[in-house]
Amino acid sequence: MNEIKNLTLSELKTALGDQPAFRAKQVYTWLHRGVRSFEEMTDLPKALRERLAEQWLLTAPVPVRRQESRLDGTVKYLWQLHDGNCVETVLMKYHHGNTVCISSEVGCPMGCAFCASTIGGLVRKLSAGEMLDEVLFTELDSGQSVSNIVLMGIGEPLDNFDNVCRFLELVNSEEGMNIGMRHISLSTCGIVPRILELAESRLQLTLSVSLHAPDDETRSKIMPVNRRWPVEELLAACRSYYEKTGRRISFEYAMIRDVNDSPETARLLLKRLKGLPAHVNLIPLNNVEESPLKPSDRAAVLRFQKLLEEAGVACTVRRTLGSDIDASCGQLRRKYRNAQ
Ligand code: SAH
Repeated sequence: MNEIKNLTLSELKTALGDQPAFRAKQVYTWLHRGVRSFEEMTDLPKALRERLAEQWLLTAPVPVRRQESRLDGTVKYLWQLHDGNCVETVLMKYHHGNTVCISSEVGCPMGCAFCASTIGGLVRKLSAGEMLDEVLFTELDSGQSVSNIVLMGIGEPLDNFDNVCRFLELVNSEEGMNIGMRHISLSTCGIVPRILELAESRLQLTLSVSLHAPDDETRSKIMPVNRRWPVEELLAACRSYYEKTGRRISFEYAMIRDVNDSPETARLLLKRLKGLPAHVNLIPLNNVEESPLKPSDRAAVLRFQKLLEEAGVACTVRRTLGSDIDASCGQLRRKYRNAQ
């Protein structure tokens, strides 16, 4: 059965065919409010509700784990999807509003050496509706309204390009959650052709690129994707993205002890980023049990940040939220699977 929540409003109009025009909008509004069954769509005729239930799959994930940080109120959900697979969503509370970090795939095919999400490989891609569900049901369950979305959970969004673009259209729609593109960030390990394709759409979202190293030797060791699209090619795509969209690129940089945290590496990074409006986010590496890589010490992180800032590159050290609840991606899903 096809998932009804994947449909845009105009597709839904077509799908409802003989129904009066206002029906599609009614159904769409219910769907984007996060109902769990067609039964709940109380202003629709009973016969229509029954027909829809026979024809369409209405996805509604079940929270199988919910962990709340005592330190900062971050909430992490493990959702079970209709086929039994699980994904994680994290709700973070910032001064500027609530941000939800969503997964785009079950597992991940990219193989980054420091990441827990990729250990079992890719299981499947999420549909647009399932990504929307992560936002809807996190809002409903937590009672908190969400103003920002980051596609930084499990999976590689640009490996699931079509569904991610459709999700953006749905979550941005006026009749739906109406979340503005400027309130959405998409993080990628660097799939160059898709970055270029995204640039063509000229969406005003923030592109976050997981760089983690400025040289091919180091980057290829920790991120296999670099063997296919090396640093210079990736940065050329970022320049083109900036030219097309006018949006400053955000670079993620996980600080790994004795791997990418020396002053020489900072200087090489500066050289590579020259002329590209960028913001660098330093993230102290989160420990992943299965990986020998360790986080840099605080002094190395601050020294690195200082070098970038002195050269005029905006650079922040990301606050670690939810460190008491396995909030770094992929860890909760792995623990749950291993325990079963
Ligand atoms: N696949 C996308 C988005 C998901 S990962 C991407 O690669 O960008 C979200 C961010 O977390 C990425 O920057 C990723 O490199 C980073 N990350 C993964 N594991 C990490 C860890 N153990 N410590 C710190 N950052 C990590």
